[in-house]
Amino acid sequence: MKKHNFSAGPCILPQEVFQEASQSILDFNNSGLSILEISHRSADFVSVMEEAQNLALELLGLQDKGYKALFLQGGASMQFLMTAYNLLDSKAAYLNTGTWSSKAIKEAKLFGEVIEVASSKDKNFNYIPKDYSIPEDADYFHCTSNNTIFGTQIKEFPNTDVPIVCDMSSDIFSRQLNFEDFDLIYAGAQKNMGPAGTVLVVVKENLLGNVDRQIPSMMDYQVHISKDSMFNTPPVYAVYVSMLTMRWIKKNGGIDAMEKRNAEKAALLYEEIDRNPLFEGFAAKEDRSPMNLTFNLKDEAHKDQFDTLWKDAGVNGLSGHRSVGGYRASMYNALSIESVQVVVDLMQKLEKEIN
Ligand SMILES: *Cc1c(COP(=O)(O)O)cnc(C)c1O
Repeated sequence: MKKHNFSAGPCILPQEVFQEASQSILDFNNSGLSILEISHRSADFVSVMEEAQNLALELLGLQDKGYKALFLQGGASMQFLMTAYNLLDSKAAYLNTGTWSSKAIKEAKLFGEVIEVASSKDKNFNYIPKDYSIPEDADYFHCTSNNTIFGTQIKEFPNTDVPIVCDMSSDIFSRQLNFEDFDLIYAGAQKNMGPAGTVLVVVKENLLGNVDRQIPSMMDYQVHISKDSMFNTPPVYAVYVSMLTMRWIKKNGGIDAMEKRNAEKAALLYEEIDRNPLFEGFAAKEDRSPMNLTFNLKDEAHKDQFDTLWKDAGVNGLSGHRSVGGYRASMYNALSIESVQVVVDLMQKLEKEIN
């Protein structure tokens, strides 16, 4: 039985993407070869890479606006240091909204001065700080758009002349933003775009080449741009499956349509979290993420009963991250509203069993 997959990442992808991706392992494009055994320099794969890069820019509305899309390795975690390597000349400003921001800050400190403009650590990152100022002389401002672990999301980005670098790993392609406001966006594929193994980097080219240090080739965005994301062997299959997912997003109405569906799904579950007397939400209401919904049982005594209910119903991946506890429902683009309804029904069933 296919499960209702609420895993935070790697995560659910569209079923038709799984089908096409598995077919391509046996015979890619009727070539008599598997996608896993072709050269990354073959015409078939070069066109996959081009389509993936074009789709990423097209979905974000960034075509012909001075941006390049790259598919690199090392995950979003490598971007924590690569962004600083390429952009941090003297100092950079960081907003600390959770585990991933903290890790980005730690790496950036190896390259220069880091100003932490604000942090929500005082309340275990259950909200997004709003009153902070960004030093005008910072090389860039770094933020995490969606905090996968804590279930918070930045709704309004600061209005600043400082270039904005944003980790969008867990909400890329899930909501419409004015993406031109960002100078560098990165996103590990495995949260909303594809399988593990590649990270999307969308960078405004004129941001590069302004630091006074030697950058090793593999760490240098300009090297990757000059080689069309093929400086070394790219993660062929991860790029291919990401491309299929982006095709699916485009075919299903693009980011606008994804955002609308995601809002409906999130409203359904948040309403139940707020209504059901057994549960409470973790994140501050105004900062709630529609991608990762964090909530707790008010009385931990019901934990085993609830866990049995959802596990028996074919629900996967609902346990919260160890640093938050409770529950986390990750509801990425490919998750259906029917799966969300299953969890809502189980929360109501628990309420009936207990009363
Ligand atoms: C998962 C995640 C990361 C880390 O991604 P890796 O690809 O495992 O390095 C970074 N940032 C955010 C927001 C994430 O959700």
